[in-house]
Amino acid sequence: MPSFKCKDIGMECPFEASALTQGGLVKKIEKHAAEAHNMKEIDAATKSKIMAAIK
Ligand SMILES: [Zn+2]
Repeated sequence: MPSFKCKDIGMECPFEASALTQGGLVKKIEKHAAEAHNMKEIDAATKSKIMAAIK
């Protein structure tokens, strides 16, 4: 099951998430980024960090 921790991209944030699919996980991360980090759009550099941090 793919999982992600905000810490893994250098955020001071305890958020972690997992989902059945990578697509579902990315949706959760996008929602979290908008709500917790005020990132309405995830820029390409951050997105590639996120994709690299998904295990
Ligand atoms: Zn976070």
